[in-house]
Amino acid sequence: MLDVAWARTWVQAAAVAVADAKDELTELDRQIGDADHGFNMDRGFQAAAAKVVDAPAETVGDVLKLVAMTLMSTVGGAAGPLYGTAFLRAAKVTTAPELGPDDVVALLEAALEGVVARGKAAVGEKTMVDAWTPAAAAAASARDAGADAVGVLEAALRAAEEGAASTVPLLATKGRASYLGERSQGHLDPGARSTVVLLAAALEAARA
Ligand code: ADP
Ligand code: MG
Ligand code: MG
Repeated sequence: MLDVAWARTWVQAAAVAVADAKDELTELDRQIGDADHGFNMDRGFQAAAAKVVDAPAETVGDVLKLVAMTLMSTVGGAAGPLYGTAFLRAAKVTTAPELGPDDVVALLEAALEGVVARGKAAVGEKTMVDAWTPAAAAAASARDAGADAVGVLEAALRAAEEGAASTVPLLATKGRASYLGERSQGHLDPGARSTVVLLAAALEAARA
């Protein structure tokens, strides 16, 4: 059941998963950035988890809004405002007591819109947009095919994994990695990878 308890569990699971992935994200960002994505994400999600534990929240949206505010105030660099805007937009469309398949699609589409509104990247520019875009599209397809809310999340995660993998050969044209030009090719985008980590935590929380 994707209710407020799920959302709280998601944030705790995300904090654990991001901590586990910290070194991997740092290494990916060392290759095409400034080696701080692991640190940025870990700092943000530890703070978000601490905040969400005892803050009042009645809906999924209330929890996602707390996450958004915390990420915006604690995460430096590109990822804080990008994920902050994603969670803020997602919060606005998740006010139902329990999320159904349509609500999960709306959450993912709103998050994608937030990232794009903030960063102005399109698919193929080697950013987290390359994970969020197929995730939202696959979620809508799964919903249309009759999947339940958890099935929609599963489809989104699989598509995000493929989308993240698709960034490897791409040339970065947005963000810090774009400074490298052709030397950005052959590396996985850190933000696309952290998107997968966050969606995997959402699914894990749904199964808990
Ligand atoms: P910084 O690059 O400021 O050090 P991070 O290392 O935390 O910030 O985040 C880098 C990630 O942010 C990239 O891997 C990419 O996925 C994402 N990113 C950077 N710029 C953009 C953008 N304009 N649109 C979408 N995502 C972006
Ligand atoms: Mg960085
Ligand atoms: Mg940085």
